[in-house]
Amino acid sequence: MKQKAKPKAPVHTEAHADSYYAASLNFVTDYPELEGSLTVDICVVGGGFSGVATALELAERGFRVAVLEARKMGWGATGRNGGQLIRGIGEEPEQFRNQVGSDGVEAIHQMGFEAVELVRERVRKYDIQCDLKMGYVDAAIKPKQMNDICDDYESLQKRNYAHELQLLSKDEIKKYVNSDRYMGGMLDMGSGHLHPLNLCLGEARAAEALGVQFFEHSPALKIHKGDLPRVETSKGSVTCQFLVLAGNAYMGDLEPKIGGKVLPAGSYMIATEPLEEKLWKSLIPQDTAICDVSIALDYFRLSADKRLLFGGMCNYSGRDPRDIMASLRPKMLRVFPQLESVSIDYQWGGMIGIGANRMPQIGRLESNIYFAQAYAGHGVNATHMAGRVLAEVISGQAERFDVFANIRHMTFPGGRYFRSPLLALGMLWYRLKEVV
Ligand SMILES: Cc1cc2nc3c(=O)[nH]c(=O)nc-3n(C[C@H](O)[C@H](O)[C@H](O)COP(=O)(O)OP(=O)(O)OC[C@H]3O[C@@H](n4cnc5c(N)ncnc54)[C@H](O)[C@@H]3O)c2cc1C
Repeated sequence: MKQKAKPKAPVHTEAHADSYYAASLNFVTDYPELEGSLTVDICVVGGGFSGVATALELAERGFRVAVLEARKMGWGATGRNGGQLIRGIGEEPEQFRNQVGSDGVEAIHQMGFEAVELVRERVRKYDIQCDLKMGYVDAAIKPKQMNDICDDYESLQKRNYAHELQLLSKDEIKKYVNSDRYMGGMLDMGSGHLHPLNLCLGEARAAEALGVQFFEHSPALKIHKGDLPRVETSKGSVTCQFLVLAGNAYMGDLEPKIGGKVLPAGSYMIATEPLEEKLWKSLIPQDTAICDVSIALDYFRLSADKRLLFGGMCNYSGRDPRDIMASLRPKMLRVFPQLESVSIDYQWGGMIGIGANRMPQIGRLESNIYFAQAYAGHGVNATHMAGRVLAEVISGQAERFDVFANIRHMTFPGGRYFRSPLLALGMLWYRLKEVV
């Protein structure tokens, strides 16, 4: 077996994860650390998609914005993810009908479509080079999963989804993913894939051009609430009219009321060496993104230089595995045994924020403090919609924000140290149910 994976680096250091994305950046950001005191209209904590999208939306509306990022822009899940840009927000909006009403459910569905269009619009408007490519396949391993996909297809048709959709039989799916693992699926030309770190940095650059001030290596350490919230860092502070907390799974207990509602869960990826044209065309002939629809799902796609980027292995223990490749490579070979002799160039992972009901948490802590978090593994689009609804409510339009704010989110039992082990047990139960 040919294998030359890079030496294992810790998953989380102060630098960007040692990923394919970090190795293929368009440019490196070098924003200053915050020093001294600053006054702005809005201070955003967290420089991932949630924070940057919010800042950009606000800057487009003429607000003065500062973003505090603890490490580097896009350092968190944003710069580490599968890059799959998939329609929809949260899981099964119908379950919230008694909290948000039928109009609210419909609004969530429509925002789940708008979120993808928003990303496409950003890429076009600011000419962001992030390898955006449309085309995505939901793949079923079992009959029940195929039934769920058919239900999804009907729901999308009913809502006049504006893009090509096609249900795929076992033979047809091979035109998109040439593996014996799948019994069928659905092609969606309104979803796709992109280079997430380059998207985030491109959006930051666009926001900077509109006057947003970015600070790296500037963790928010303390929040002083009041008429004008003040955020303290080790060498400075920002006073603002509105504060937006967008630190998601990495924010810890900076604000325990929301920290207790989101659990960090690890998701991991590997990237192969670039594949020869004949080989990649025999695996993913149309260059679409692919997810299976299991609870512990596999997600994969080709990069612009035609590596297979393969992810999966959700880990609820709160600890990163010692050897990501050893766990993920067998899963990749289960899908594509054809890759037995291909080497793995990168392995990395990151923390996704999970809430108990799998609906992103977009809400208000105080009249002038907002937050957005807990997109689970489906945040590339939803973070952008969160940024838009937060900008709307701060500008005085609360309607769409209220839909999310009216959804109740449970605080996980177990406190800071026992939340993750309890969730690990809960998820094991669901996975066992899926197996039997
Ligand atoms: C391996 C992996 C694969 C994934 N694949 C996909 C996918 O294919 N498609 C999809 O839609 N979603 C995917 N996701 C989920 C998606 O990446 C996230 O939902 C999304 O990036 C969340 O963005 P965010 O800005 O809310 O959080 P993050 O990107 O995690 O950003 C939070 C930022 O806040 C900073 N921060 C935290 N606390 C502070 C503080 N006190 N002061 C200052 N800064 C602070 C952190 O340093 C971090 O940079 C994946 C996630 C992972 C980890």
